[in-house]
Amino acid sequence: MFETVDPATGDVIDTVPEASAGDVDAAVTAAKRAFASSEWAEMLPATRARLLWKIADLLEEHAEELARLETRDQGQPFGISSTISVPNAVEHFRYYAGWATKLHGSTVPLSIPGVDYRNWREPLGVCGLITPWNFPLMIAAWKLAPALVTGNTVVVKPAEQTPLSTLRLAELCVEAGVPRGVVNVVTGGPAVGQALVRHPDVAKISFTGSTEVGREIAGEAGRRLARVSLELGGKAPSIITPDVDIDAILEGNIMGGLLNCGQVCAAYTRFYVDEPRAEEFAGKIAAVAASMQLGNGLDPSTQLGPLVSQEQLQRVDRYVQQGTSEGATLVTGGRRSGGALANGYFFEPTVFTDVDDTMTIAREEIFGPVLSVIPYRDADDLARRANDTEYGLAAVIWSRDIGTANRLAHDIKAGTVWINLPPFLDAAAPWGGMKASGVGREMGWDAILSYTETKSVWTSLG
Ligand code: NAD
Repeated sequence: MFETVDPATGDVIDTVPEASAGDVDAAVTAAKRAFASSEWAEMLPATRARLLWKIADLLEEHAEELARLETRDQGQPFGISSTISVPNAVEHFRYYAGWATKLHGSTVPLSIPGVDYRNWREPLGVCGLITPWNFPLMIAAWKLAPALVTGNTVVVKPAEQTPLSTLRLAELCVEAGVPRGVVNVVTGGPAVGQALVRHPDVAKISFTGSTEVGREIAGEAGRRLARVSLELGGKAPSIITPDVDIDAILEGNIMGGLLNCGQVCAAYTRFYVDEPRAEEFAGKIAAVAASMQLGNGLDPSTQLGPLVSQEQLQRVDRYVQQGTSEGATLVTGGRRSGGALANGYFFEPTVFTDVDDTMTIAREEIFGPVLSVIPYRDADDLARRANDTEYGLAAVIWSRDIGTANRLAHDIKAGTVWINLPPFLDAAAPWGGMKASGVGREMGWDAILSYTETKSVWTSLG
């Protein structure tokens, strides 16, 4: 067993089993058996649609309980767990419920006489779904809903820091009527994830997490030619063109930079601001950041919760020290919170200015409440600088000029570009990264493709 801790207090909330290799094998075996069962394999599309819809209904019925659980285990303010994490998970099940009756193949005219041709999409088999700790319930739903609607069975491995909402989700799947063995959960750390990735009966791994672990998983999956999709890290630039009203874009940038205390893969972290206004922007965003209420996520007045763990707290602290030692100017924050918050893993929202592209804080993913203001002189060089990173998950452009904004959107190598928006997501819009930010896309029709394979059937008409 291992303990899972409330990051706002450091108190143990629960103990959870550390799965052995034997447990992983048992889960995969159960999933393999369920995949072949007529109850699952032959379930009518309309029945499958109702099943996913029922999961969504149950999530909604238990919305408050799930949001509280997510807040206690992950730390995110209840305002986030109740308005983003749970509703977004619900919407994923509803969106994919709609696809159940629309997963058609096609016929295409062949240039061969006497042959009828058609194709359809088939599920892959047992899928291993490995999730991170920043939005555990929501990210599990991103994977589970498309995997189930296409007829796969799954073994989910939530992050060891935040296993509780995924375990509850699995219980609700059973309550909704998901047949035995279709949804399995194994809890534990990296070794459990590794056992899943290496299991010969796992047809696909869908992983969300760090780029470093993503590389390892891609290697393992590649060796045995398992299907793999990877949603990895990011270092999103926020490009502020000289024509924008700084006051009008502060709120969107604060949301983008500090949502879930910056523990967001798409977090806005590199703020490119025209040099004459860089100080003004840094001062204003620092003032908003410093005014935010840190606290226990269950307290309704809390705007910023803790970091997920002691380890993450130390990691953020190391980056902040590196920022200072490499010559960035600290405008606000820069240290762990004390007083009543000293037992939790709280870090003050931090703004640096005078950052340049070569500094560690501008290059590496921090995954904490650390914003870097990078002054620029040459607006024509912005796309190159935005792209000067191994990551390519997301970017945001703030501009009043539609031509400038769209030119940048074309030139920036990122899976998602927002124009004048905080980081929105929608079940219908494909989500994923370019370059070291990942392989493949979740959400939308793209996720259906990633959990299925095309089969071509040729028939002689003779
Ligand atoms: P992590 O890579 O450390 O762990 C992610 C998951 O993988 C956990 O469940 C962990 O137990 C498991 N794991 C660790 N080592 C493994 C191994 N060798 N084999 C198999 N499984 C292994 O990531 P994290 O610290 O939990 O999450 C933060 C990272 O996730 C950040 O880099 C963030 O950018 C990324 N992320 C990306 C997206 C996206 O959509 N692109 C979304 C959220 C988070």
